[in-house]
Parts: sequence; structure tokens; C-alpha cells
Amino acid sequence: MKTYTIALLPGDGVGPEVTRAAAEVLQAVGERFDHRFVFDTQLIGGSAIDAVGEPLTQETLVACRQASAVFLGAVGGPKWERGPRRPEQGLLELRKALGLFANIRPVRIYDALIDCSPLRRGIVADVDLVVFRELTGGLYFGERHRSADAASDQCVYAVTEVERIARAAFAAARTRRGKVTSVDKANVLETSRLWREVVTRVHAEEFPDVRLEHALVDSTAMQLIRQPRSYDIILTENMFGDILSDEASVLGGSIGLAPSASLGAKAPGLFEPVHGSAPDIAGRDICNPVGAILSAALLLRYGLRLLDEANAVEAAVERVIDRGARTSDLGGDLGCRAMAELIADEVAKSVTDTHHVQMHWG
Ligand code: NAD
Repeated sequence: MKTYTIALLPGDGVGPEVTRAAAEVLQAVGERFDHRFVFDTQLIGGSAIDAVGEPLTQETLVACRQASAVFLGAVGGPKWERGPRRPEQGLLELRKALGLFANIRPVRIYDALIDCSPLRRGIVADVDLVVFRELTGGLYFGERHRSADAASDQCVYAVTEVERIARAAFAAARTRRGKVTSVDKANVLETSRLWREVVTRVHAEEFPDVRLEHALVDSTAMQLIRQPRSYDIILTENMFGDILSDEASVLGGSIGLAPSASLGAKAPGLFEPVHGSAPDIAGRDICNPVGAILSAALLLRYGLRLLDEANAVEAAVERVIDRGARTSDLGGDLGCRAMAELIADEVAKSVTDTHHVQMHWG
């Protein structure tokens, strides 16, 4: 029996609820597939500010570095909005410290939930895309200045930062439908012109078999609503990716369904649902745990390379949804715990399915 240590960072708001749900499902995976998962629970975000005055403690960072993978619930909330230290800073620092330069957000549409999508069935059916967002450069990490009557945020991209995320996206495209849409604002921004040049060169030199198209971010925001099926992999920089991936994540019917993985050149990766701390529904056992549980599936696949186990979790989620299980965001009345239990029970019953194509990483 192999042992994996997973750093669990529940964070704030609904974070602890969805983290508990994901851990319950991982526990069921361990029992079903004979692995031992050791959970090392640590502080992050607002709860860390409350306890020790910092959103990311040294103890949390050390635990993450020593773990096989990191699972995070969510951080933030109105309680900490006016303080000197913001909860979100803890997550940004953690991503930077672990060198997590690629944020991967798969978007797929469950047939049983298609009527929950804000788009018509004919537009959204069969959507299957992945956003590759650069995570450690650009506007969110540039120098910022504030004076009495003005403010500025600097956007910087190095060639190497663009190269490594471009390679990751092209390599993944080879295991999917072979198409990358690189999104920028090259008609205005110098960083975007560099982005486009580097992506074009990496493509020509290393991935000429992949289909590459360039698109402007404003037009992509529009096309994601008009023709979401036309995308396979969307490759983009930090802020554009933040916005477009949230837009894409609601195509499935609820942001509560969407998972993400953040990966670097080496382990550990960080896995978290796309949604935030949802303070409006926190502590009431009504949030949807599926985004967190599907993030646990990404943890199994990309963090631990346990493919059958990842497939078992994704298949269990689909079966439970097919049978009509719904939390309140999808018009149902199941609680977070009850939904997680149904999925964990389904994992316990699962049979191995090895017919799966691994999306390339590393
Ligand atoms: P949010 O994702 O927390 O909530 C947006 C809406 O979606 C809310 O109506 C919420 O109730 C709903 N929702 C979110 N998750 C849900 C779930 N699992 N099930 C059902 N409904 C769900 O975004 P927000 O309100 O803009 O941000 C709230 C806080 O979270 C802010 O402090 C923000 O900075 C933080 N945030 C953190 C992360 C992160 O930890 N990675 C990401 C985004 C936002």
C-alpha cells in the first residue's frame, strides 16, 4: 500500500465544507484502490490572518513543499476586506513559492445538466475545452504604485514565462483535438505582442502538427458565448485567463461544478475548485462540492498520476448527476455533505476503467 501526504488548506467561507467533501471522496478512493492518504491540514487566507496575522504561514509553506499534492478550498471574505493583509495574498504567495505557472481549467458539459446552462442546448451541447492560464506573471505580479490622485499596476512578461506555458498547452493539445487558441490583446499591448511572437515561434519550432490560431481577448469573450464548441485549448496570460476561465466555468450551469489544477515544473501541484469562498452561503451545508471533488480527481490524475482513480471519481460524479442528485445551485435540495456521501459511495462501488487518454503533463 502506497502512502501519499496531501496538504489540505480549507481556508475561508465554504472552503472548509468543500475541502471536507473532497477529502471524504479521496478517503473512499484510498479504500477502494488500496492507497493510504495522509491529510495534513494547515491554515491559509483569512483564517490564518485571524490565527497568526499572516495569510500564508511558514508552517503551511513547509507542509505544502513536503506534500505529494496540495488541496485548497477557498480564501477571502468581507471580514478581511479592509485589513492590512488580504487573504488572497496568501494564495498568490503560495502559487509563486511553489512555482505554479500553469492554471488548468477543464470545462465540460454534463448532458443531464444542460438545461442549467445559461446558454441554449444547441450552442452548449458537447462543449469540451480547457483553459491554460499563465499564473505567475503579468499584471497581478507587477509593481504597483498609489498616490493621492492616481494608481498604476505594471504588466511584465519574460520570454521564458511565455515559452513554458505555451509548451504545456501545445503538448496537451496533442492528446486532445489538436487545436490551441492563443488569446492576447496584441493590437494594443506590448506584452501581448511579445506573447504572440513567442507562441508563434514555439509552435513553428516544436509543435507544427498542432493547429494554432491567435485571437483578441475581447472577441474571445464574445465567441465563448456564441460558439463555445469551437474551442479545444485556450492559452492565455494571467488576467485574461482569470476572466475568460470564470466566463467559461459557468457554461456548465454553476460555478460550483468547475475544477482547477495549478502545476509547475515539479510536484507538488495545487488543486482547488474555481469558485471563491461564497460567503453568502457559507456554513449552511448548501454549497455544491462537485467542483472540489473534480479538483480532487485532477489531483489524482496530474498530482499523483493515479489515472484509474481519477477516472473513478469523475465517473462517480457523472453517475450521481445522471441519477438526479442536485444541490441548490442546480435547483435541488441536497446538502454539501449528502452530495459528497453519494459520490463517495459511488466511488466505493466503482469498477476500473482503463480506457482513458492521459492529458500530457511534464
Ligand atoms: P464566489 O465564487 O465565492 O461566489 C460567486 C457566486 O457563486 C455566489 O453567489 C456564491 O454563492 C456562488 N457559489 C460559489 N461557489 C459555490 C458552490 N460551491 N456552490 C454553490 N454556489 C456557489 O465569488 P465572489 O463572491 O466573487 O467572491 C467571494 C470571496 O471569494 C471574495 O473574497 C473573493 O476574493 C474570494 N475568491 C477566492 C478565490 C479562491 O480562493 N481561489 C476565487 C475567487 C474568489
